[in-house]
Amino acid sequence: MATEHIIEVTYLVATALFILSLKWLSSPATARRGVLAGEVGMFLAVAGTLLHNEIVSYKWIAIALVLGTIIGVPLGRVAMTAVPQRTALSHAFGALCVTLVGTAEFYIQAPNVPAFTMGVLSLEVILGALTFTGSLMAAGKLQEVLPQRPITYKGQNFVNLGLLAVAVGIAATLVMHPEKTMLFPAMIVIPLLFGVMMIIPIGGADMPTVMSLLNSYAGLSAAAMGFVLGSKLLIIAGALDGASGLILSINMSKAMNRSFTNVLFGAFGQEETKAGGAKEAPPVRNATPEEAAGILAAASKVVIVPGYGMAVAQAQHKVRELYDVLTKRGVDVKFGIHPVAGRMPGHMNVLLAEADIPYDKLLEMDDINGDFLETDVALIIGANDVTNPAAREDKSSPIYGMPILDVDKARTVMVIKRGMAAGFAGIENPLYYMDKTLMLFGDAKNFVGSIVREIAGGHG
Ligand code: NAP
Repeated sequence: MATEHIIEVTYLVATALFILSLKWLSSPATARRGVLAGEVGMFLAVAGTLLHNEIVSYKWIAIALVLGTIIGVPLGRVAMTAVPQRTALSHAFGALCVTLVGTAEFYIQAPNVPAFTMGVLSLEVILGALTFTGSLMAAGKLQEVLPQRPITYKGQNFVNLGLLAVAVGIAATLVMHPEKTMLFPAMIVIPLLFGVMMIIPIGGADMPTVMSLLNSYAGLSAAAMGFVLGSKLLIIAGALDGASGLILSINMSKAMNRSFTNVLFGAFGQEETKAGGAKEAPPVRNATPEEAAGILAAASKVVIVPGYGMAVAQAQHKVRELYDVLTKRGVDVKFGIHPVAGRMPGHMNVLLAEADIPYDKLLEMDDINGDFLETDVALIIGANDVTNPAAREDKSSPIYGMPILDVDKARTVMVIKRGMAAGFAGIENPLYYMDKTLMLFGDAKNFVGSIVREIAGGHG
């Protein structure tokens, strides 16, 4: 009895920590605390579960813990830019686990499975199985081991929804006739196939949004598992995961100006016929680190806009040095953060926080956009799509309507990138051809480093 109480209290504390973790994760100032709360919550949840007196033997659990640690430790060490595909793999493992537990539970209880249990169990294995293969496909596309380009064919949505309908039909039959146990494997195999078919038509560009949706499915299947196993902790944690994943996918779609149905059925991310070489590009103005340093040191207001290139170059520490030398000279330096800059939500915030840039200097798009008119220099470091004015002006552009950082309104625009390559959306950026724009060609880390040396050396 005493152990029962300890387990209940442990679960209650874990639940509270999960809720607090989500709350704290929503601001850079408290994000570290949020991660810690999530970790402690998960530790308590596992520890509480291990206290259950129904556990017959700890041997298999110990083997699983060792195996999980062996797989988990290297997974936690991937580069920041590979976190989306790493997360997709974690979802795949979680979903596989849910599907296996559901399967075991069915065969333990069959043929006398109560209708409610059979209903939630079906939801659990259908969502679990499709999330498993869907997440593996998403990881493959993000890691570029599978083609990023969407593969579409006529009647695709009909085939996909048809598959799902068959799985739901089988589930309904099993709810009424749980003794028809030979139907159960089909209720797993069909969603496994559906998971693959569901991701095939979705292009690489939409993959992070889809991942966040798969996260939501994994959460819902875990909540369903909670009903099957009678675990309140699983129901709450699964529901939190399901809801937060859904909210995140909707927010990401909004930030990219894509409707949700469009993400799922639109085959976005198709290879653009890149105009690049064929069309003659207009000339651009470029500048050296010395020239850039001179302009920056003479400015009174600078807004730095980081993007994916800063992450690739790992330039955040050099950016911090730039922030320091400029502020020391009395320049007002702020950072404009676009919600989908980089390759995952919060990507820029994490990198800049790692370099200890004060949080109050990081301004969200809506808060900084009004400032550009009074900004002397907008310094773009490895960002491209999130600054593309075509999103505002060119109705034929694939990113038309996506909210952007209005850097083109600043007095001078400086862009650090290696060449004239397109960004994630694969499209030209008219910003680079404006009279007020100076292109600073080079690797972000090296170029920012050279500017810092120039300013610190007293030039400009
Ligand atoms: P971006 O449009 O992908 O552009 C990044 C730019 O960085 C490239 O044009 C590249 O040009 C430059 N670059 C790459 N390596 C560099 C280096 N070592 N040094 C300097 N520059 C380098 O990036 P973004 O403006 O951050 O936009 C993010 C894009 O990802 C958006 O289209 C968004 O919709 C999409 N996306 C974001 C998320 C998310 O959650 N954040 C999710 C899915 C999709 P060069 O090759 O010429 O150097």
